[in-house]
Order: sequence, then structure tokens, then C-alpha cells
Amino acid sequence: MRKPGSGYEPTDALRAVSGWRWVVALVALSLIAVLAEVNPDAPPMLALQNPTRLRFAFINGDNDLPTSWTCAPIRVVLDQSIATAGIEADVRAAIRDVETVSAFTFDVIGSVDHQPNEQWATESSAFGADVIYAVSSPERSELVEGEELAAANLHIVFEEPRSRFVAGAVVFNADRLEELTPGMGPMSVGAVATHETLHILGLDHVKDSRSIMTADINDGSAMIGPGDVNGLAVLDQAACDSRESTGFD
Ligand SMILES: [Zn+2]
Repeated sequence: MRKPGSGYEPTDALRAVSGWRWVVALVALSLIAVLAEVNPDAPPMLALQNPTRLRFAFINGDNDLPTSWTCAPIRVVLDQSIATAGIEADVRAAIRDVETVSAFTFDVIGSVDHQPNEQWATESSAFGADVIYAVSSPERSELVEGEELAAANLHIVFEEPRSRFVAGAVVFNADRLEELTPGMGPMSVGAVATHETLHILGLDHVKDSRSIMTADINDGSAMIGPGDVNGLAVLDQAACDSRESTGFD
């Protein structure tokens, strides 16, 4: 059932960076979210201001309190493989696009020489970063698999009153990078970078042709859609309300 070149799915997956236990948990939660999405009798996932049902789903947590980051800017480093592959401008543009449509802010610190693997969650603080973007291959990193164009990996800390993300890694598959076109649009570096960045912020796949979060890039608009924007607003609220209520920063 795997069709090479068919897009994000199964070329794209969500995993935590610190152990396969989280992998199983995330996959299971992801499936639950997707199943809920396709049930035509299910009520809207949240009461939205917009009368149109705007679809979104979260990686983890319930719809009222999804797992998110803290309210602080998310610190990003780019492995030098991003520049070497000639995709740095598109990755940076994708991050800026996400900032434009959400209250999340990213602090792109700069370039590092570091191929991320499952240890990233414990290494990130040494780089003063939360999230790393890299081009790698299944041979060099367990964070991307052969069928994937790219993968977003999140490390979750489970604590009360809610879980939060503490580290993330976006890894483009070097073996499939040539399938992506520069800039934005279907099967583009920009669209994949945007899609993975929204995973990093906590959005999961949806079946909505206006969303960039479709599992298969060919099923969606390859542009940030209204459901994506609404989902990001909920995630931002979770991030910032959490800081106020718990004191962590
Ligand atoms: Zn995806």
C-alpha cells in the first residue's frame, strides 16, 4: 500500500525523538484523531467563531487542551545540510509563513553542524535550540524513513496540568529531495517544510482539501488553509494560557 511519490503519506510520519514508546503512542493518537475527523456524524471539534466547519486535529491532548509548546519563541537551528541542499530560503520562508498566520514566533538562531537523531531531545539545550531542521537519510538518521519525503519528530514531556513539547526535529529525506520543486506549490520544498512545521507546532493530519495538513500532499491545497489557522490559534492559546497558569517559561 505504499506508493512512492504519492505525497506526504506514507512519506511522512510523526515520531518522538526519545524512544519508540512515544512512537506507538503518537501513531495511536493520530489514528484516533483521523477517525474522528472522517465521522460525518461527529460534532465540530470545537466551537468556532466561523460558522463554516474548519477542520483541524492535534498530535496529542484533547481538543480543549492540546499538547503545545510554552509561550516563548521557539528557537530553531538549521543543520548545514539545509544550506548545502539549497533549500534554506524555502525553509525560512515556510517558517515565516507560519508566523504570519499564527501568534507563534520562531527565533531562527542560525546554522549548526549536527545531524539530528533520537538524542536530539537531550542535545537541544546544548545548541540553545528547541527545533532543528536537517536533510538526512535513513542510513544516517533514524528520524526519517525511506518512504518519507520528510518527517517531523516531537518529544513530549507528560506532566500536569498538561503535556508539552520540549524538542522537535524536521528531517528531509535526502534520497527523495529531488522529487520536490523549489518554492511553494504541490510537491514543493516550501509546502513540505510548512506541513512539517505545523506538525512541530502540534497539528495532525486532516481530510480537508483546503488544508496543507492532508496526509497526502496531492489531496490538499499545499497552502495553509482556514482550518490550519484555527488549529494554530487553539495551540497558541494552549501554549500561552499554560505558561500563565503554571508559571513555567
Ligand atoms: Zn504529515
